[in-house]
Amino acid sequence: MAWPEPTLSAARPLRDHGFHPLRIDRVVRETTAAVSLVLEVPSELSDTFAYRSGQFCNVRVQIDGISEMRCYSMSSSPALGEEMAVTVKRVPGGIVSNWINDHVRAGDMVELAPPTGFFQLTDTSADLVAFAAGSGITPVFSLLKTALATTARTIRLHYANRDQAGVIFDAELRELQRLHPERLDVVHSYDVEHGLLTPETVTALATATAVGEFYICGPGPYMDIVERGLSTLDVEKGRIHIERFTQADLPGGAAALAPEAVGGTQVTVDLDGRSDTTDHRQGTTILQTARQMGMSPPFSCESGNCATCMARLVRGSVSMFVNNALTAEEVADGWILTCQSVPTAPAVHVVYDIEDG
Ligand SMILES: Cc1cc2nc3c(=O)[nH]c(=O)nc-3n(C[C@H](O)[C@H](O)[C@H](O)COP(=O)(O)OP(=O)(O)OC[C@H]3O[C@@H](n4cnc5c(N)ncnc54)[C@H](O)[C@@H]3O)c2cc1C
Repeated sequence: MAWPEPTLSAARPLRDHGFHPLRIDRVVRETTAAVSLVLEVPSELSDTFAYRSGQFCNVRVQIDGISEMRCYSMSSSPALGEEMAVTVKRVPGGIVSNWINDHVRAGDMVELAPPTGFFQLTDTSADLVAFAAGSGITPVFSLLKTALATTARTIRLHYANRDQAGVIFDAELRELQRLHPERLDVVHSYDVEHGLLTPETVTALATATAVGEFYICGPGPYMDIVERGLSTLDVEKGRIHIERFTQADLPGGAAALAPEAVGGTQVTVDLDGRSDTTDHRQGTTILQTARQMGMSPPFSCESGNCATCMARLVRGSVSMFVNNALTAEEVADGWILTCQSVPTAPAVHVVYDIEDG
Protein backbone atom coordinates (compact mmCIF):
# COMPACT_ATOMS: atom_id res chain seq x y z
CA MET A 1 0.00 0.00 0.00
CA ALA A 2 1.22 3.52 -0.76
CA TRP A 3 -0.20 6.92 -0.04
CA PRO A 4 0.45 10.42 -1.36
CA GLU A 5 2.57 12.37 1.08
CA PRO A 6 0.17 14.10 3.46
CA THR A 7 1.04 17.31 5.21
CA LEU A 8 1.95 16.70 8.83
CA SER A 9 -0.91 18.90 9.97
CA ALA A 10 -3.24 16.34 8.41
CA ALA A 11 -1.47 13.58 10.29
CA ARG A 12 -3.85 13.58 13.21
CA PRO A 13 -5.41 10.42 14.55
CA LEU A 14 -8.99 9.82 13.53
CA ARG A 15 -9.62 8.46 16.94
CA ASP A 16 -8.58 8.97 20.49
CA HIS A 17 -6.05 6.28 21.33
CA GLY A 18 -4.78 7.93 24.46
CA PHE A 19 -5.24 6.60 27.98
CA HIS A 20 -7.82 7.82 30.48
CA PRO A 21 -7.81 7.03 34.21
CA LEU A 22 -10.94 5.14 35.29
CA ARG A 23 -11.92 4.21 38.83
CA ILE A 24 -12.62 0.59 39.66
CA ASP A 25 -16.04 0.37 41.22
CA ARG A 26 -15.90 -3.34 42.12
CA VAL A 27 -13.59 -6.28 41.81
CA VAL A 28 -15.49 -9.53 41.28
CA ARG A 29 -13.61 -12.74 42.04
CA GLU A 30 -14.86 -15.07 39.27
CA THR A 31 -12.62 -18.09 39.96
CA THR A 32 -9.38 -18.54 41.90
CA ALA A 33 -7.59 -17.51 38.71
CA ALA A 34 -9.83 -14.76 37.31
CA VAL A 35 -11.27 -11.43 38.37
CA SER A 36 -13.58 -8.97 36.72
CA LEU A 37 -12.90 -5.27 37.13
CA VAL A 38 -16.12 -3.27 37.02
CA LEU A 39 -15.22 0.23 35.87
CA GLU A 40 -16.75 3.62 36.49
CA VAL A 41 -16.99 5.59 33.27
CA PRO A 42 -17.63 9.27 34.04
CA SER A 43 -20.34 10.90 31.93
CA GLU A 44 -17.83 13.11 30.09
CA LEU A 45 -16.09 9.94 28.84
CA SER A 46 -19.23 7.93 28.01
CA ASP A 47 -18.84 8.53 24.26
CA THR A 48 -15.13 7.75 24.38
CA PHE A 49 -15.79 4.43 26.10
CA ALA A 50 -18.91 3.44 24.15
CA TYR A 51 -18.18 -0.08 22.93
CA ARG A 52 -19.63 -3.04 21.13
CA SER A 53 -19.71 -6.55 22.50
CA GLY A 54 -16.53 -8.41 21.64
CA GLN A 55 -14.31 -5.33 21.77
CA PHE A 56 -11.40 -4.78 24.14
CA CYS A 57 -9.46 -1.95 25.78
CA ASN A 58 -5.78 -1.48 26.17
CA VAL A 59 -5.16 -1.27 29.91
CA ARG A 60 -2.11 0.49 31.38
CA VAL A 61 -0.91 -0.16 34.90
CA GLN A 62 2.22 0.81 36.83
CA ILE A 63 3.94 -2.18 38.40
CA ASP A 64 7.08 -1.54 40.46
CA GLY A 65 7.51 1.78 38.69
CA ILE A 66 7.26 0.23 35.23
CA SER A 67 4.40 1.04 32.89
CA GLU A 68 2.82 -2.13 31.48
CA MET A 69 0.10 -2.31 28.81
CA ARG A 70 -2.11 -5.27 28.00
CA CYS A 71 -5.39 -5.75 26.15
CA TYR A 72 -8.48 -6.93 28.03
CA SER A 73 -11.86 -7.64 26.46
CA MET A 74 -15.11 -6.46 27.93
CA SER A 75 -17.15 -9.23 29.52
CA SER A 76 -20.10 -6.88 30.06
CA SER A 77 -22.82 -6.30 27.49
CA PRO A 78 -23.56 -2.70 26.50
CA ALA A 79 -26.94 -3.86 25.15
CA LEU A 80 -28.01 -4.83 28.67
CA GLY A 81 -26.87 -1.51 30.13
CA GLU A 82 -24.32 -3.33 32.28
CA GLU A 83 -21.46 -1.38 33.80
CA MET A 84 -18.35 -1.77 31.72
CA ALA A 85 -16.22 -4.67 32.97
CA VAL A 86 -13.11 -6.50 31.85
CA THR A 87 -12.21 -9.99 33.03
CA VAL A 88 -8.59 -10.97 33.60
CA LYS A 89 -7.37 -14.54 34.00
CA ARG A 90 -3.96 -15.36 35.44
CA VAL A 91 -1.32 -16.50 32.96
CA PRO A 92 1.41 -18.58 34.65
CA GLY A 93 4.40 -16.29 35.13
CA GLY A 94 2.53 -13.36 33.60
CA ILE A 95 3.25 -9.89 35.00
CA VAL A 96 0.02 -7.98 34.55
CA SER A 97 -2.62 -10.71 34.85
CA ASN A 98 -1.23 -11.88 38.20
CA TRP A 99 -0.73 -8.35 39.48
CA ILE A 100 -4.33 -7.48 38.67
CA ASN A 101 -5.59 -10.67 40.33
CA ASP A 102 -3.48 -10.09 43.44
CA HIS A 103 -3.39 -6.34 43.96
CA VAL A 104 -6.23 -4.43 42.33
CA ARG A 105 -8.96 -3.29 44.71
CA ALA A 106 -12.22 -1.32 44.48
CA GLY A 107 -11.44 2.39 44.41
CA ASP A 108 -8.11 1.94 42.59
CA MET A 109 -7.54 3.76 39.31
CA VAL A 110 -6.43 2.07 36.11
CA GLU A 111 -5.75 3.68 32.76
CA LEU A 112 -7.65 2.53 29.71
CA ALA A 113 -7.50 3.49 26.06
CA PRO A 114 -10.84 3.62 24.22
CA PRO A 115 -12.42 0.35 23.09
CA THR A 116 -11.39 -1.17 19.80
CA GLY A 117 -11.51 -4.46 17.90
CA PHE A 118 -13.48 -6.14 15.14
CA PHE A 119 -14.54 -9.30 17.00
CA GLN A 120 -18.15 -8.22 16.89
CA LEU A 121 -21.62 -9.43 16.02
CA THR A 122 -22.56 -8.96 12.40
CA ASP A 123 -25.94 -8.04 11.07
CA THR A 124 -27.25 -11.53 10.41
CA SER A 125 -29.88 -13.90 11.75
CA ALA A 126 -27.58 -16.92 11.35
CA ASP A 127 -27.07 -19.19 14.33
CA LEU A 128 -24.10 -18.22 16.43
CA VAL A 129 -21.63 -20.99 17.16
CA ALA A 130 -18.90 -20.01 19.61
CA PHE A 131 -15.79 -21.85 20.67
CA ALA A 132 -14.17 -20.41 23.78
CA ALA A 133 -11.44 -21.74 26.02
CA GLY A 134 -10.22 -20.28 29.32
CA SER A 135 -10.10 -16.47 29.28
CA GLY A 136 -11.38 -16.64 25.69
CA ILE A 137 -14.86 -16.71 27.20
CA THR A 138 -14.59 -13.00 28.06
CA PRO A 139 -15.50 -11.43 24.69
CA VAL A 140 -17.69 -14.43 23.81
CA PHE A 141 -19.74 -13.97 26.99
CA SER A 142 -20.41 -10.36 26.03
CA LEU A 143 -21.32 -11.37 22.46
CA LEU A 144 -23.75 -14.07 23.50
CA LYS A 145 -25.48 -11.88 26.11
CA THR A 146 -25.98 -9.21 23.48
CA ALA A 147 -27.16 -11.68 20.84
CA LEU A 148 -29.68 -13.18 23.28
CA ALA A 149 -30.97 -9.74 24.27
CA THR A 150 -31.14 -8.08 20.87
CA THR A 151 -31.78 -10.86 18.34
CA ALA A 152 -33.72 -14.11 17.98
CA ARG A 153 -30.56 -16.03 17.11
CA THR A 154 -29.84 -19.49 18.45
CA ILE A 155 -26.49 -19.85 20.18
CA ARG A 156 -24.33 -22.89 20.70
CA LEU A 157 -21.25 -22.47 22.89
CA HIS A 158 -18.41 -24.95 23.23
CA TYR A 159 -16.52 -23.86 26.34
CA ALA A 160 -13.29 -25.63 27.25
CA ASN A 161 -11.52 -25.44 30.58
CA ARG A 162 -9.01 -27.56 32.41
CA ASP A 163 -11.64 -28.54 34.97
CA GLN A 164 -14.97 -27.40 36.34
CA ALA A 165 -13.33 -25.09 38.90
CA GLY A 166 -11.84 -23.06 36.06
CA VAL A 167 -15.17 -22.16 34.49
CA ILE A 168 -15.59 -18.38 34.46
CA PHE A 169 -19.23 -17.13 34.45
CA ASP A 170 -20.51 -20.62 35.32
CA ALA A 171 -23.54 -19.40 37.31
CA GLU A 172 -24.34 -16.66 34.79
CA LEU A 173 -24.28 -19.12 31.89
CA ARG A 174 -26.58 -21.51 33.76
CA GLU A 175 -29.01 -18.66 34.40
CA LEU A 176 -28.96 -17.65 30.73
CA GLN A 177 -29.67 -21.26 29.76
CA ARG A 178 -32.60 -21.32 32.19
CA LEU A 179 -33.97 -18.11 30.68
CA HIS A 180 -33.38 -19.16 27.05
CA PRO A 181 -33.64 -22.97 26.98
CA GLU A 182 -34.57 -23.01 23.28
CA ARG A 183 -31.91 -20.58 22.19
CA LEU A 184 -28.78 -21.23 24.23
CA ASP A 185 -26.91 -24.51 24.35
CA VAL A 186 -23.65 -24.65 26.34
CA VAL A 187 -21.36 -27.64 25.91
CA HIS A 188 -18.75 -27.65 28.67
CA SER A 189 -15.56 -29.56 28.05
CA TYR A 190 -13.04 -30.29 30.80
CA ASP A 191 -9.58 -31.35 29.70
CA VAL A 192 -9.19 -33.61 32.74
CA GLU A 193 -12.45 -35.46 31.99
CA HIS A 194 -13.12 -35.16 28.27
CA GLY A 195 -9.63 -34.69 26.88
CA LEU A 196 -8.76 -31.98 24.40
CA LEU A 197 -11.07 -30.77 21.66
CA THR A 198 -10.86 -32.69 18.38
CA PRO A 199 -11.67 -31.49 14.85
CA GLU A 200 -14.45 -34.14 14.80
CA THR A 201 -16.22 -32.50 17.78
CA VAL A 202 -15.93 -29.15 16.03
CA THR A 203 -17.45 -30.59 12.89
CA ALA A 204 -20.29 -32.20 14.83
CA LEU A 205 -21.15 -28.94 16.59
CA ALA A 206 -20.88 -26.96 13.38
CA THR A 207 -23.01 -29.29 11.28
CA ALA A 208 -25.76 -29.31 13.92
CA THR A 209 -26.33 -25.74 12.80
CA ALA A 210 -27.92 -25.01 9.44
CA VAL A 211 -26.10 -21.74 8.67
CA GLY A 212 -23.65 -20.74 11.34
CA GLU A 213 -21.61 -17.67 12.14
CA PHE A 214 -18.55 -18.84 14.06
CA TYR A 215 -16.67 -17.06 16.89
CA ILE A 216 -13.42 -18.47 18.20
CA CYS A 217 -11.30 -17.29 21.14
CA GLY A 218 -8.86 -19.31 23.20
CA PRO A 219 -5.25 -20.50 23.29
CA GLY A 220 -3.53 -20.99 19.92
CA PRO A 221 -3.69 -24.81 19.81
CA TYR A 222 -7.42 -24.78 20.67
CA MET A 223 -8.17 -22.26 17.93
CA ASP A 224 -6.09 -24.28 15.46
CA ILE A 225 -8.25 -27.36 16.12
CA VAL A 226 -11.46 -25.34 15.64
CA GLU A 227 -10.17 -23.90 12.40
CA ARG A 228 -9.11 -27.36 11.22
CA GLY A 229 -12.57 -28.73 11.99
CA LEU A 230 -14.31 -25.88 10.20
CA SER A 231 -12.00 -26.14 7.20
CA THR A 232 -13.42 -29.58 6.37
CA LEU A 233 -16.88 -28.00 6.10
CA ASP A 234 -16.02 -25.30 3.58
CA VAL A 235 -17.29 -22.54 5.86
CA GLU A 236 -16.82 -19.19 4.12
CA LYS A 237 -14.05 -17.14 5.71
CA GLY A 238 -16.38 -14.20 6.29
CA ARG A 239 -18.43 -16.31 8.69
CA ILE A 240 -15.46 -17.15 10.92
CA HIS A 241 -14.47 -14.54 13.53
CA ILE A 242 -11.28 -15.09 15.47
CA GLU A 243 -9.82 -13.16 18.42
CA ARG A 244 -6.17 -13.89 19.16
CA PHE A 245 -4.90 -13.04 22.63
CA THR A 246 -1.18 -13.66 22.16
CA GLN A 247 1.49 -13.17 19.56
CA ALA A 248 2.29 -16.88 19.80
CA ASP A 249 -1.20 -17.50 18.43
CA LEU A 250 -0.14 -16.01 15.12
CA PRO A 251 1.22 -18.56 12.69
CA GLY A 252 4.88 -17.62 12.87
CA GLY A 253 4.40 -13.93 13.72
CA ALA A 254 4.71 -11.00 11.40
CA ALA A 255 8.40 -11.37 10.68
CA ALA A 256 7.92 -14.93 9.44
CA LEU A 257 5.25 -13.71 7.06
CA ALA A 258 7.36 -10.88 5.72
CA PRO A 259 8.16 -10.89 2.01
CA GLU A 260 11.68 -10.15 0.82
CA ALA A 261 12.30 -6.58 1.89
CA VAL A 262 13.49 -4.16 -0.74
CA GLY A 263 17.31 -4.04 -0.73
CA GLY A 264 18.87 -0.87 0.72
CA THR A 265 15.65 0.32 2.31
CA GLN A 266 15.88 3.32 4.61
CA VAL A 267 13.41 3.76 7.43
CA THR A 268 12.81 7.13 9.09
CA VAL A 269 10.86 7.26 12.33
CA ASP A 270 9.58 10.38 14.10
CA LEU A 271 8.81 9.92 17.76
CA ASP A 272 8.80 12.25 20.76
CA GLY A 273 10.31 15.16 18.83
CA ARG A 274 13.15 12.99 17.49
CA SER A 275 13.59 11.92 13.86
CA ASP A 276 16.07 9.18 12.98
CA THR A 277 16.86 7.22 9.85
CA THR A 278 18.42 3.78 9.59
CA ASP A 279 18.95 0.95 7.11
CA HIS A 280 16.15 -1.56 7.34
CA ARG A 281 17.06 -5.06 8.49
CA GLN A 282 15.28 -7.64 6.39
CA GLY A 283 12.33 -9.33 8.11
CA THR A 284 11.95 -6.76 10.86
CA THR A 285 8.87 -4.68 11.40
CA ILE A 286 8.75 -0.90 11.61
CA LEU A 287 8.17 -1.25 15.37
CA GLN A 288 11.32 -3.36 15.71
CA THR A 289 13.25 -0.89 13.57
CA ALA A 290 12.23 1.99 15.85
CA ARG A 291 13.40 -0.01 18.87
CA GLN A 292 16.70 -0.82 17.16
CA MET A 293 17.24 2.94 16.86
CA GLY A 294 16.91 3.21 20.65
CA MET A 295 13.43 4.68 20.54
CA SER A 296 10.59 3.61 22.83
CA PRO A 297 7.60 3.33 20.51
CA PRO A 298 4.24 2.42 22.04
CA PHE A 299 3.11 -1.19 21.67
CA SER A 300 1.03 -3.75 23.49
CA CYS A 301 -0.21 -6.96 21.86
CA GLU A 302 2.30 -7.09 18.94
CA SER A 303 -0.30 -9.20 17.15
CA GLY A 304 -2.06 -6.58 15.05
CA ASN A 305 -4.99 -6.51 17.43
CA CYS A 306 -4.76 -3.46 19.63
CA ALA A 307 -3.65 -0.36 17.64
CA THR A 308 -1.35 0.83 20.42
CA CYS A 309 1.54 0.90 17.93
CA MET A 310 -0.37 2.77 15.22
CA ALA A 311 1.59 5.40 13.36
CA ARG A 312 1.18 7.39 10.21
CA LEU A 313 3.03 6.47 7.03
CA VAL A 314 4.00 9.77 5.43
CA ARG A 315 6.36 8.42 2.78
CA GLY A 316 6.85 5.13 0.96
CA SER A 317 4.83 1.96 1.30
CA VAL A 318 4.53 -1.03 3.63
CA SER A 319 2.96 -4.47 3.78
CA MET A 320 0.76 -4.92 6.83
CA PHE A 321 0.22 -8.58 7.63
CA VAL A 322 -2.46 -8.57 10.30
CA ASN A 323 -4.88 -5.75 10.91
CA ASN A 324 -7.55 -6.46 13.44
CA ALA A 325 -7.56 -2.94 14.80
CA LEU A 326 -7.57 -0.16 12.19
CA THR A 327 -10.68 0.72 10.24
CA ALA A 328 -10.61 0.86 6.44
CA GLU A 329 -10.89 4.63 6.75
CA GLU A 330 -7.84 4.83 8.99
CA VAL A 331 -5.84 2.61 6.66
CA ALA A 332 -6.89 4.71 3.66
CA ASP A 333 -5.73 7.76 5.61
CA GLY A 334 -2.24 6.33 5.99
CA TRP A 335 -2.35 4.73 9.43
CA ILE A 336 -0.43 1.51 9.90
CA LEU A 337 0.10 -0.98 12.71
CA THR A 338 3.86 -0.73 13.04
CA CYS A 339 4.11 -4.16 14.73
CA GLN A 340 2.74 -5.74 11.56
CA SER A 341 4.32 -3.57 8.87
CA VAL A 342 7.46 -4.12 6.82
CA PRO A 343 8.72 -1.66 4.20
CA THR A 344 8.08 -2.34 0.53
CA ALA A 345 9.66 0.86 -0.84
CA PRO A 346 13.27 2.10 -0.80
CA ALA A 347 12.43 4.92 1.62
CA VAL A 348 9.78 4.75 4.30
CA HIS A 349 8.92 7.49 6.78
CA VAL A 350 6.65 6.86 9.75
CA VAL A 351 5.38 9.33 12.35
CA TYR A 352 4.16 8.25 15.76
CA ASP A 353 1.60 10.60 17.18
CA ILE A 354 1.34 9.92 20.88
CA GLU A 355 -1.23 11.79 22.88
CA ASP A 356 -1.88 10.75 26.42
CA GLY A 357 -5.31 11.49 27.79
C1 LIG B 1 -7.20 -8.38 21.74
C2 LIG B 1 -6.84 -9.05 23.05
C3 LIG B 1 -7.80 -9.24 24.02
C4 LIG B 1 -7.48 -9.87 25.22
N1 LIG B 1 -8.46 -10.07 26.15
C5 LIG B 1 -8.17 -10.73 27.30
C6 LIG B 1 -9.18 -10.95 28.29
O1 LIG B 1 -10.33 -10.57 28.12
N2 LIG B 1 -8.85 -11.62 29.43
C7 LIG B 1 -7.57 -12.06 29.65
O2 LIG B 1 -7.32 -12.65 30.72
N3 LIG B 1 -6.58 -11.85 28.73
C8 LIG B 1 -6.84 -11.18 27.58
N4 LIG B 1 -5.84 -10.94 26.67
C9 LIG B 1 -4.46 -11.36 27.00
C10 LIG B 1 -3.77 -10.23 27.81
O3 LIG B 1 -3.63 -9.08 27.00
C11 LIG B 1 -2.36 -10.62 28.30
O4 LIG B 1 -1.61 -11.07 27.20
C12 LIG B 1 -2.40 -11.68 29.37
O5 LIG B 1 -3.12 -11.22 30.50
C13 LIG B 1 -0.95 -12.03 29.82
O6 LIG B 1 -0.34 -10.87 30.29
P1 LIG B 1 0.72 -10.96 31.49
O7 LIG B 1 1.30 -9.61 31.67
O8 LIG B 1 0.11 -11.60 32.68
O9 LIG B 1 1.77 -11.98 30.92
P2 LIG B 1 3.21 -11.57 30.35
O10 LIG B 1 4.07 -11.06 31.42
O11 LIG B 1 3.01 -10.74 29.14
O12 LIG B 1 3.72 -13.01 29.94
C14 LIG B 1 2.99 -13.82 29.01
C15 LIG B 1 3.66 -15.18 28.95
O13 LIG B 1 4.97 -15.06 28.50
C16 LIG B 1 5.84 -15.63 29.45
N5 LIG B 1 7.01 -14.76 29.52
C17 LIG B 1 7.04 -13.45 29.86
N6 LIG B 1 8.28 -12.98 29.78
C18 LIG B 1 9.05 -14.02 29.41
C19 LIG B 1 10.43 -14.17 29.16
N7 LIG B 1 11.30 -13.14 29.28
N8 LIG B 1 10.89 -15.38 28.77
C20 LIG B 1 10.05 -16.43 28.62
N9 LIG B 1 8.72 -16.33 28.84
C21 LIG B 1 8.24 -15.17 29.24
C22 LIG B 1 5.10 -15.66 30.77
O14 LIG B 1 5.57 -16.67 31.62
C23 LIG B 1 3.72 -15.89 30.31
O15 LIG B 1 3.51 -17.25 30.11
C24 LIG B 1 -6.15 -10.31 25.47
C25 LIG B 1 -5.18 -10.09 24.49
C26 LIG B 1 -5.50 -9.47 23.30
C27 LIG B 1 -4.44 -9.24 22.26
